[in-house]
Amino acid sequence: MNIHEYQAKEILRKNNVAVPAGYVAETPEEAVNAAKKLAEEKGATAWVVKAQIHAGGRGKGGGVKVATSLEAVQEKAEQIIGMQLVTPQTGAEGKKVYKVLITEDVYYPGENEPKEYYMSVLLNRATGRNMIMYSTEGGMDIEEVAEKTPHLIFKEEIDPKVGIQGFQARRIAFNLGLSGKAFKEMVKFAVALYNAYEESDSDMFEINPVFKTSDDRILAVDAKVSLDDNALYRHKDLAEYRDITEEDPTEVEASEAGLNYVKLDGNVGCMVNGAGLAMATMDMIKLSGGDPANFLDVGGKANAQTVEAGFRIILKDPNVKAILINVFGGIVRCDRVANGVVEAYKNIGDINVPIIVRLQGTNAVEAAKIIDESGLKVTSAITLKEAADKVRAALA
Ligand code: GDP
Ligand code: MN
Repeated sequence: MNIHEYQAKEILRKNNVAVPAGYVAETPEEAVNAAKKLAEEKGATAWVVKAQIHAGGRGKGGGVKVATSLEAVQEKAEQIIGMQLVTPQTGAEGKKVYKVLITEDVYYPGENEPKEYYMSVLLNRATGRNMIMYSTEGGMDIEEVAEKTPHLIFKEEIDPKVGIQGFQARRIAFNLGLSGKAFKEMVKFAVALYNAYEESDSDMFEINPVFKTSDDRILAVDAKVSLDDNALYRHKDLAEYRDITEEDPTEVEASEAGLNYVKLDGNVGCMVNGAGLAMATMDMIKLSGGDPANFLDVGGKANAQTVEAGFRIILKDPNVKAILINVFGGIVRCDRVANGVVEAYKNIGDINVPIIVRLQGTNAVEAAKIIDESGLKVTSAITLKEAADKVRAALA
């Protein structure tokens, strides 16, 4: 589950990772009040107004702006709240901004040169261990750094039995070229960050930039956190960070109906029982010259209700030119599924795309008969090849 920057920073703060002070706001008035509070509490004379969406690259899209007066805070908040923010990670349609985070500006001038670094914590699946990935090249797109200057990316693997060790944190600070106070601060930062990652059962932490201020403090200026869905049951407080406005509305509807649905860009809708069969079906659609419009696993219960919910979700997508239902009837008998399909079809009424139903397993022949005799625009198939040919014919 992805969360917002301001929520990620709450997790960091709770675990003693240094972050710039900040408050979240939903209106320009709240933004100005937040800035006033930061002025009183932190002596802030400049602020950053940051769009809160579940995507990075906000700065490039105009979603991160520095303000040097309260009037400017108001003005920037007015611009950003309600905007449709397009970044390299949102796709062309962008994301609507409902909230902004107002933080103190920590890029103030001073004795030393300020600098941006990169640090992430994630699971290295090859070794089954968490690792800290970090770089001197902060503030930029890390994929680009990995491509052009891979020698500037470092990795530190953590032994799960003992957690992050002091020598590892010191190696990180050393590789980042730090000394003196900044070195000590980075050691503390890396240890606290790693512990925050473990404590919150996260999938991924990405802090870009980690910032060294002109007075050698180390701060998480940005924070991208993804929590492990499977561990949310033991983090009730973090589960509440879920923001449905950030999710695809169709995927939310599907999860409420107990369906496992992922929207894709193709023209053939598919409805399948079992994730493995769903993947195989998508391959088959490709081989027959189509492109899957979605992944949809109806799970173990392919009855009239789930099939109807699946139909409604697939039919919302205007790109869909045909629907392929591919269900293996083991415990759930094929004739039952066929009756479910017919009932769901009748309940919905005006379905204008051809539907190919491939039912294999117990009572497959009876099921094909039910489909063919229903008088609806539904075609049956028993073998995969037959289904593929019918999909191809439907698209022609
Ligand atoms: P992202 O674009 O979504 O990754 O958002 P970030 O939080 O990383 O902010 C984008 C950029 O804004 C950073 O790389 C910084 O260059 C700049 N920025 C962030 N915080 C501050 C700040 O406190 N002061 C100034 N002057 N710039 C900042
Ligand atoms: Mn960033």
